Amino acid sequence: MILPKNFIFTQGNLQDFVDCPYRFYLRYILRTSWPALVVDQALEFEQRGQAGGRFHRFVQQYLLGVPPERIDGLVDGDPLPDLRRWWAGFIAHVPPWLEGQRWVEMTVTATLAGQRLVAKYDLILLDEKGNLTIFDWKTSKKPLSAARLLERIQTRLYRLVLLQASASLFNLQPVEPEQITMRYWYATQPQMPITLVYSQSNYENDLAYLTDLIETISNAQENDFIRTADLARCRFCVYRSHCERGVEAGSLDDFDYLDLEQDEADLLIDFEDLPEIEF
Ligand code: SF4
Repeated sequence: MILPKNFIFTQGNLQDFVDCPYRFYLRYILRTSWPALVVDQALEFEQRGQAGGRFHRFVQQYLLGVPPERIDGLVDGDPLPDLRRWWAGFIAHVPPWLEGQRWVEMTVTATLAGQRLVAKYDLILLDEKGNLTIFDWKTSKKPLSAARLLERIQTRLYRLVLLQASASLFNLQPVEPEQITMRYWYATQPQMPITLVYSQSNYENDLAYLTDLIETISNAQENDFIRTADLARCRFCVYRSHCERGVEAGSLDDFDYLDLEQDEADLLIDFEDLPEIEF
């Protein structure tokens, strides 16, 4: 095993391995920093990423009970006009879906295939019938299709961890997969969240897939971390000159068109005192 000691798997680093094993190797094992842009319009890209972070904080404050009028003032003063549109769409459409008990910005650690992993949820909602909904706020320009979202590690990992963790976290009777829904809300289509209901077969497939993925990474040797054959990915990868796969960054428009997503800051998780579930 060449993984760093105490390595923690997240949806972000697992997705990196799926997208390109060599990128995982450079980023998490060698910890290689490489001074390159992800897209050509770097400033706009960075501004959009930062505005996404601010939007998440506004939503978090709202969910924790800060009056929306107080948040309106902060939103009005935001330098990015898009953020005002995102916030207006959120306030106009989302509150009626939030009936129930809320867990906001909740982080759960778990053990799978002998390795530690963590899932960080924007919001978990428990309704009076015992159904659980995971909400995830997205500010990317172009929403992914339901089919793409079902393939994403985030969907597979978050639903699985919640199913396993729910009984002990929320003092519930064991929950059936069909009681769990993942709802992606895109700020660019606020009235139409993408809703993915879990099932027993989803659960069994995801458990087998993620166990195999984590075992594969854990047992991999240096030569197993191969470069992706999908050259489109390299255009938006900071390591492209290191890999001799081009120097110029891809365009921001293509980034949106290819259904790529900006990295979530899941490395900023505080791992202290988190509830841990073993399965
Ligand atoms: S440039 Fe391409 S091959 Fe190299 S790490 Fe990035 S995605 Fe992988």
